[in-house]
Amino acid sequence: MASDKQVTFVIVGGGIAGVTCAEQIASQFPSDEVCLLTASPLVKTVINFKQVSKTLEEFDIEEQPSSVLEEKYPNLKVIQSAVKLLRAKEHLLQAENGQTFHYKKLCLCSGGRPKLLIQDKPHVLGIRDTDSAQDFQKRLSKAKRIVVIGNGGIALELVYEVEGCEVIWAIKDKAIGNTFFDAGAAQFFIPSLEAEKKDRSLPCKRSRYTTDKTGVGHSGASGELGSALGPDWHEGIELRGAEQSSSGVHIEYECEVDEIFTQQEFLQSKLSTKKSELGMWPAYVQLNNGKVYGCDFVVSATGVVPNTEPFLHGNNFDLAEDHGLRVDDHMRTSEQDVYAAGDVCTAGWKPSALWQQMRLWTQARQMGWYAARCMAADVLEEPIELDFCFELFTHITKFFNYKVVLLGKFNAQGLGFDHELLVRCTKGQEYVKVVLTGGRMVGAVLIGETDLEETFENLILNQMDLSRYGEELLNPNIDIEDYFD
Ligand code: FAD
Repeated sequence: MASDKQVTFVIVGGGIAGVTCAEQIASQFPSDEVCLLTASPLVKTVINFKQVSKTLEEFDIEEQPSSVLEEKYPNLKVIQSAVKLLRAKEHLLQAENGQTFHYKKLCLCSGGRPKLLIQDKPHVLGIRDTDSAQDFQKRLSKAKRIVVIGNGGIALELVYEVEGCEVIWAIKDKAIGNTFFDAGAAQFFIPSLEAEKKDRSLPCKRSRYTTDKTGVGHSGASGELGSALGPDWHEGIELRGAEQSSSGVHIEYECEVDEIFTQQEFLQSKLSTKKSELGMWPAYVQLNNGKVYGCDFVVSATGVVPNTEPFLHGNNFDLAEDHGLRVDDHMRTSEQDVYAAGDVCTAGWKPSALWQQMRLWTQARQMGWYAARCMAADVLEEPIELDFCFELFTHITKFFNYKVVLLGKFNAQGLGFDHELLVRCTKGQEYVKVVLTGGRMVGAVLIGETDLEETFENLILNQMDLSRYGEELLNPNIDIEDYFD
């Protein structure tokens, strides 16, 4: 039944950004009602939060029923219904369940959805939430060959985890994983892809993503609106194809997809390829290097597009080039009293020389938390400065079972030729790269148990002139921590 509600704070989205924002604001204003509107039945909460060093943080994520949040914060109400309309000038929000909310401050944390290479093709799927991961698993169990498009974190994890199914991995770059590391690190990882699954070592233990215990991890009524998965999204989901033997990964470098055909389209096409030699497959992918592959289906892992649609109509949001809601250094959008955080937003402030936005869950948490503090500061008419976490980009993750730490301009982003690289590599064990400019460390990639993250973070933050140390910086026989104490 339609109803009207006056609420001081409304937050949209039950992912990391929205939940962190809602928790923070609910604890800061215990006598004000806070509403969290979300399309998904479960919310994502941060647990086991650990501040590893000044800017590095680690935590686990747990999907929980919304009642858990409501028990913890009596003034927080979670409403499972997607927002269908926003009238920002009137401070009014309408949910699919018919409820209307009049807010004082609103924070949009609606995340993103997979940027599908080709829309509306039955043989092309993206992975974003529990639903799509389960759909992928189901289809994989009957598949003999899949084509994976994309070179980001999801593609990397996927090609490594799939067993019993041939994987054709098409990337537009010269090396794998170039969103996260350079060609040298890519080379370090290649043997892991070639190793038999049983031989794959487990060099690191990393925070685990805990999946839905209740088994109700499906999206809300609006379809593809579940929360984004995080690291270890494949844990608990067996990624096994229809073949008995172990998987093989074949990488097609520096290519893009020209066309994806269904079987019927392929047979009717005028392609000069000898069709009979390719065998019969449900789908065919034509790459711009001239090759055509038959496959069971295609996984499009080519990034996300911010979920902004329900909010745009009739409003005047400033959108960034990547279609995110542009926010200033107080997480404010261009519409008054509307803030945004997480994957849906694009940082519009002049960033520190050592930070860049990447749509990762660490940043979703940080932005959600900071957005809440900004809303609070605005309400209380207090000043607030950009949080320290935006000083230095840091990310801890795991690829191919190795711990990976990324710091600052880890890939010399935006530095042109004005930088120097130092690399140390022990095959199968560790890969360490530092980026220096003018003798000062501005970034690092640490793969394996290097134990260097804190020291390097300090060196990056204090911008000490390291010219006189030269390559000694990475000398494994020197205890670098002692060196700079
Ligand atoms: P989301 O988690 O997407 O949450 C958005 C929320 O908004 C959802 O609850 C949704 O239901 C709700 N919503 C959407 N539209 C509406 C609406 N109209 N009305 C109401 N509610 C709405 N990051 C890492 O750091 N490391 C990784 O290893 C990693 N791996 C990943 C693997 C996969 C497969 C994917 C998809 C992402 C991965 N990420 C990883 C990225 C990370 O998960 C996201 O950056 C992060 O979760 C974004 O959080 P968010 O809160 O902004 O958005």
